[in-house]
Amino acid sequence: MELRQLHLGLDWVHAPTSYDAACLCGRIQFRINEKPRVHYCHCTMCQRATGSPAAVLGWVKKTAVLWGKEHPTEYRSSPVAVRSFCGVCGSPICLAYDGSDEVGIHLGCVSLSKELPPYYHYGIEGRLPWFDAGKELEGTVTSEKW
Ligand SMILES: [Zn+2]
Ligand SMILES: [Zn+2]
Repeated sequence: MELRQLHLGLDWVHAPTSYDAACLCGRIQFRINEKPRVHYCHCTMCQRATGSPAAVLGWVKKTAVLWGKEHPTEYRSSPVAVRSFCGVCGSPICLAYDGSDEVGIHLGCVSLSKELPPYYHYGIEGRLPWFDAGKELEGTVTSEKW
């Protein structure tokens, strides 16, 4: 029912916190009903997956994401995680680790992302010296190993 409402653009019963999100072409549309935990990720996989010096990921419970009619295409990027993207325009959509109840949303997809600044750095072993965003924030190295 909720997915049909999203597709038709009808009114929602608004959660206290919700954010609309979409890919570049608009085919993938979804809503996040939880405030994400936002951080930079500088790992080389996120760099390649986004074509950028770092990813900015916002983590929420998988159950807090309501997908529209179309779902993103999945790509198993490592033995421990799956990345999703729009199969039409290629926008990175999310990252999910196997067995986790959370999903990391690429924040550039999210409306009102200006209200969701990153709080820390991750994967700092891959941090590029000329990428100077968030200098005041703490950082850790990547812990996933496989
Ligand atoms: Zn798209
Ligand atoms: Zn990463």
